[in-house]
Amino acid sequence: MKAILLLKKIQDTRDAEILCSTCLDQLAQFVDLELDGQPVDDRMPQFKHHIGQCKVCHDEYQLLLDLAAMDRSGHLPTLEALQQEFLI
Ligand SMILES: [Zn+2]
Repeated sequence: MKAILLLKKIQDTRDAEILCSTCLDQLAQFVDLELDGQPVDDRMPQFKHHIGQCKVCHDEYQLLLDLAAMDRSGHLPTLEALQQEFLI
């Protein structure tokens, strides 16, 4: 089953792929657009495609999205609370 998923991802590669460094440079912009309700699939299609292919960038995206959503709602945890939760 995993081989089928891997083959699907390989088939789904595109000619104009972006690198992880480019993806991470655009991460904050993408999250802001998404939280603003903008059509991110149309505005940043290469970024969206990359996070669908790359687990590292997808994890970074998910983390920033969660933090940005908390920040916008005014419920951003303090550094002390994060340290206690994750035992950094
Ligand atoms: Zn990546």
